[in-house]
Amino acid sequence: MTLKNYDIAELRRLDVAHHLPCHQDHKLMQDLGGARIITRAQGSTIFDGEGTPLLDGMAGLWCVQVGYGREELAKVAYDQMLELAYYNTFFKTASPPTVLLATKISQLMGGNLSHVFFNNSGSEAVDTIIRLARYYWQLKGQPERNVLIARNNAYHGSTIAGASLGGMSHMHAQGGPFVPGIEHVMQPYQFNEGFGEDPEAFCQRAVDAIESKILEVGPEKVAAVIGEPIQGAGGVIIPPEGYWPKVEALCRKYGCLLAVDEVICGYGRLGQWFGFHHYGIKPDLVSMAKGLSSGYLPISAVGVADFIVEALRSVSDDFVHGFTYSGHPTAAAVALKNIEIIEREGLVERTRTDTGPYLAKGLAELAKHPLVGEARSVGLIGAVEIVAEKGTNKRFGGKEGPAGLIVRDLCIKHGLMVRAVRDSIVFSPPLVITHAEIDQLVGTIRKALDEALPALKEIKAA
Ligand code: PMP
Repeated sequence: MTLKNYDIAELRRLDVAHHLPCHQDHKLMQDLGGARIITRAQGSTIFDGEGTPLLDGMAGLWCVQVGYGREELAKVAYDQMLELAYYNTFFKTASPPTVLLATKISQLMGGNLSHVFFNNSGSEAVDTIIRLARYYWQLKGQPERNVLIARNNAYHGSTIAGASLGGMSHMHAQGGPFVPGIEHVMQPYQFNEGFGEDPEAFCQRAVDAIESKILEVGPEKVAAVIGEPIQGAGGVIIPPEGYWPKVEALCRKYGCLLAVDEVICGYGRLGQWFGFHHYGIKPDLVSMAKGLSSGYLPISAVGVADFIVEALRSVSDDFVHGFTYSGHPTAAAVALKNIEIIEREGLVERTRTDTGPYLAKGLAELAKHPLVGEARSVGLIGAVEIVAEKGTNKRFGGKEGPAGLIVRDLCIKHGLMVRAVRDSIVFSPPLVITHAEIDQLVGTIRKALDEALPALKEIKAA
């Protein structure tokens, strides 16, 4: 078999025989006889080995902003590979794409974020934030300031540091011990943790949880507070109005750094270049990946505030951190071209003023469905909460999980790739999605909910 000539059944057999997929139940994958093989994609649609089209409601894994099949991106990678496929940034060296991309990202971030540190994945970007934040305080003569405060149910990656910083209890249950010096606090998830509560009071409670933790740890020991502007993998948790400015104010009050993990929210997802623009805050460290290259090649970055760079430059010593592929010329060239496409096609503005509001309108209708407890979105990221009793947040069978999987499987059966997070269906389609495709996305979730009812009633009764 070759890449030009393969057999799907044989690939599935080889998949079980040789391949271990990510974040997966490996027994289930074996029982299923291998993965569904995705063979090609165009625009917002992916195709499997049988030629079945699926509207990609997840933009791959929250990343394919400009959609699939962009010749320009393939061409720029081809040209760059012939010119300079690879070089590193360890030897007092850099390449044109690396420097130009750092410049471009700095311009997009604005404010005092005029430097960029490159990595390959979101997890590595998060590792960089942890090391950089702690090293910054060492340079400032406060090495005891090494604790990071993150939120429960946050996702910050799958490296040991990323998994430690993330607040996912099922991840913490496997493969420990984890990185010390990390504390978790309540997440701003009103539907589950403050149902029916006054939003302002709930917001204050979530902010107070951070302040209490800062005081408990001791402000002089807190290096940084970190969070995703909107928690993605945790279930598209949209914080209440005012949450982020209040968290920012806390960081300023106690002198700790504010880090935002923009791996999902960056590059137009919320209708602004970055989530911190949407929420009107000024972070000191910013991780980004995914939409930076629309996933065409792996690349990630950390935006770094000027005063942190000044500290790095205040000593004649190496910051001994970085990766073989940091600033990879080919990945950087693709990212630059990807940003050019996003700008040329006005995808950020379109998300803010056109497709985002159009999705929100569709979801407002869907919210009337008897199984929907809440349908929420910002820009082109959203979630639909499935509930057993309209007007409550009660779940089928009294626990979260089964209902989401049933509805997700029906969505996929009807040609829509979405993800279930507990009992919510989450989506973040490519930013090139059309109105007709948004209608299809919302319509398919509605159809799946309708069809799921008999199976859900059985869970309820059980
Ligand atoms: N941070 C956030 C907010 C993410 O959503 C993710 C990935 N979903 C990561 C970090 C980790 O990125 P990667 O999988 O590229 O390591």
